[in-house]
Amino acid sequence: MGFLDGLRSLFTGLSSGDMYAMYIYVRCQRCGEKVRLRMDRRFDLEQEFGENLVTGYVANKDILGRNCPNLIRVHIEYDQNFRPRTQEVHGGQLITRQEYEAQ
Ligand SMILES: [Zn+2]
Repeated sequence: MGFLDGLRSLFTGLSSGDMYAMYIYVRCQRCGEKVRLRMDRRFDLEQEFGENLVTGYVANKDILGRNCPNLIRVHIEYDQNFRPRTQEVHGGQLITRQEYEAQ
């Protein structure tokens, strides 16, 4: 990402080509490290079907921070509009983007 793109994404929260990106933020239970995970809606979510229609999406992610070997396992179920329905995290906890960016 170039400098200008970086600036732009600061203001819009999106950079070009990132329209499918979703971010989740977690904090490691063991060392407190905050980790951001980028997911692509097209590739990283499993579709749930009901009556031939997509009724929701599921994300299963294992996240490893840089500071310790603790594995953070995230399971999130979304509705058709990508709003989280169920969230389960082992080895850490979900945090907000604001919490992630706060130092
Ligand atoms: Zn850790």
